[in-house]
Amino acid sequence: MSGKQVLIQVNNLSKHFNIGKNKILRAVDDVSFHIYKGETLGLVGESGCGKSTVGRTLLQIYESSAGEIYFDGQKLNAQAGRAEQAVYKQNMQMIFQDPYSSLNARMTVLEIVSEGLLVHRPDLSFEERKARVFQLLELVGLQQKYANRYPHEFSGGQRQRIGIARALAVEPKFIVADEPIAALDVSIQAQIVNLLKQLQKERGLTYLFIAHDLSMVKYISDRIAVMYVGQFVELAESETLYRQPLHPYTEALLSSIPLADPKLERSRERILLKGDVPNPASPPSGCRFRTRCPKIMDICKSVAPVLREVEPNHFVSCHLFSRSSNY
Ligand code: SF4
Repeated sequence: MSGKQVLIQVNNLSKHFNIGKNKILRAVDDVSFHIYKGETLGLVGESGCGKSTVGRTLLQIYESSAGEIYFDGQKLNAQAGRAEQAVYKQNMQMIFQDPYSSLNARMTVLEIVSEGLLVHRPDLSFEERKARVFQLLELVGLQQKYANRYPHEFSGGQRQRIGIARALAVEPKFIVADEPIAALDVSIQAQIVNLLKQLQKERGLTYLFIAHDLSMVKYISDRIAVMYVGQFVELAESETLYRQPLHPYTEALLSSIPLADPKLERSRERILLKGDVPNPASPPSGCRFRTRCPKIMDICKSVAPVLREVEPNHFVSCHLFSRSSNY
């Protein structure tokens, strides 16, 4: 991407939840990154690693516990006035994981897609809103006649298209797509990814694309961040991450993707991680990945590695790539 401009800047973001008995769940713990205008940043990690919390905190669905978020140079502020909040909400939208539960079953497609317009474009008449919904349905590959139908009358892929139309209705600049293809058949996943890519190209959208594995995220992401127990462990351009993963966790995630070529699939080595993801309310000392890492060293038990740039645009948090190593 030439002439890159930052749209989202995140500095030392944390989101902690009080879970009772004096316990704090550190869902997101001191995370910093940026997303360029027109870029897709993929965010990958196992269930419960904090990736959805990052997305929801960016959209101010959750109030951050610490850190700063800037949107197009403006600091987001939970205490901002209603008018300012409305501008953020219009510019930052979300596509949800489950197209089955994220659409109100009692509302027609017309009502669902025009909901945001009612809030952010109260100046539009009913006819103007309807015309806008028709345009949006066409944009996402659905026929206008579907506007009066209800969500249960659609397949999973069609429902996700409705969810995309709903997100686009208020003409946002930034979209958090929270595992938008996870609940869909494999054959439909590529269609939705292609639709998101096409819309991005046409409208200059910026995405945070959240996924629980690295299989499909490659096709849409310019860069990918890998998350583990509330922190980023690796961040690189997609091509680099797939060609030369550095963090042992990224290596393991990549080794679990099935390869299309049966010969390669038979010959390659799978890295099977032992144990479960640690509880973010009581993460291990030192490196949070040490309880499952096949490359653990003594230092990993007591010293937490920090995310650092080990080669241009390639960041990793692992003692194997500390300053004293060859990197
Ligand atoms: Fe493994 Fe140590 Fe690197 Fe953590 S710091 S990923 S335990 S080698």
